[in-house]
Amino acid sequence: MVFVEKKLAERAVTQGISTRAVRGGKTGLPGEPLGSQIVMTSSFVLESPESTDIHHGYSRVSNETVAALEKQLCALEECLFAPVYANGVAATNAIFSMLQAGDSVLFEENTYGCTLRLAEEIFTKFGITFCSTDFSAHNVFKKISELKPTLIWIESPTNPLLKIIDIEAVATASNSAGSLLVVDNTFAAPVNQLPLQLGADLVLYSLTKYHAGHSTCMGGTVCTNNNRLGQALYDIRRFNGSILTASEAALIAQGTQTIEVRMERIASNALALAKFLESHPRVTRVLYPGLPSHPEYELATRQMCSGSGIIAVEFSIEPSERMEFLNRIRPLFSLSHSLGSTKSQVSIPALMSHAKLSLQEREQIGLSDSLFRFSIGIEDIDDLCTTLDQALNS
Ligand code: PLP
Repeated sequence: MVFVEKKLAERAVTQGISTRAVRGGKTGLPGEPLGSQIVMTSSFVLESPESTDIHHGYSRVSNETVAALEKQLCALEECLFAPVYANGVAATNAIFSMLQAGDSVLFEENTYGCTLRLAEEIFTKFGITFCSTDFSAHNVFKKISELKPTLIWIESPTNPLLKIIDIEAVATASNSAGSLLVVDNTFAAPVNQLPLQLGADLVLYSLTKYHAGHSTCMGGTVCTNNNRLGQALYDIRRFNGSILTASEAALIAQGTQTIEVRMERIASNALALAKFLESHPRVTRVLYPGLPSHPEYELATRQMCSGSGIIAVEFSIEPSERMEFLNRIRPLFSLSHSLGSTKSQVSIPALMSHAKLSLQEREQIGLSDSLFRFSIGIEDIDDLCTTLDQALNS
């Protein structure tokens, strides 16, 4: 990958990351399907009245296809538990559902909008308090030790400004304060960093993004090595009915097999495109963790294997020109809320994901109305550059 060859492979206690993604959870024994087996059933025939909790009994609780994906994710993440949910927000909901009245959560200020809204609009009703802060500020560690929140919630890189947070340092502070650290690792993907190895307690993914990888389905997971939390996450899924379906599990299992090769192409495309845009006269600002101009470049190179696939760009385009620009790039950059696909995507956070924030709130986190977020795919880099260049020059 781009920053440090085989950095994750060195950290891995078992096999390399691609081997774990492809072979994880498989036995290799005769008769085992090489592909996924989609078990389409609501119920399983039981051996005895007592056997429901041990074997697959009812697909709201567990299912063979779902369990196969969980084994694959555990191998990839090198963890003990990875219950899968219907989508990333359902996985987030499961984490919040472990809290109780009087608990508190400290968020990084650039946390994904739906995570914050779920917290504020649903969980505050149950006596849980939430606040947010800038985790790249020097006083954040003092704040953690003073507040002693039940849960600390960070993303790195953040959405959409791609701030890099020092996961290991936050994990140390979180541990000293007696807090649990959650890292939403969706933007980085496991091939770039494994936060459990950096001290996080829980790692959340929207599997909809880089794991599934082809814009075909939705899913979410929470990875952990903590027995108590792992068990609670499975129990919550059973009680609130948020398990993933078998067909979506099979699609995610298939996508996950190629996560390392896709991410390698995505990251090299993103780096080349970020460099191209940085030198373009109609571009005022490029944020990409793989660029030496990124404010936390040194930390990114230490913590990640590449800059991953998201680029934030400010163009010198008038608001009235925006739609024409989007139309010109449409054949290769699809206007979309999502990210992490083989196909390149574009969004305007101020008008889309962050539209609910007031102008003042957007200014506070440094989000300008002219910022475009690109999720880079695996198309040929020359075509991506040419499409943007022609649209900017026309
Ligand atoms: N976390 C991050 C960083 C996201 O970007 C998203 C969705 O965009 C989610 C969580 C939620 O995932 P899902 O859309 O699968 O519910």
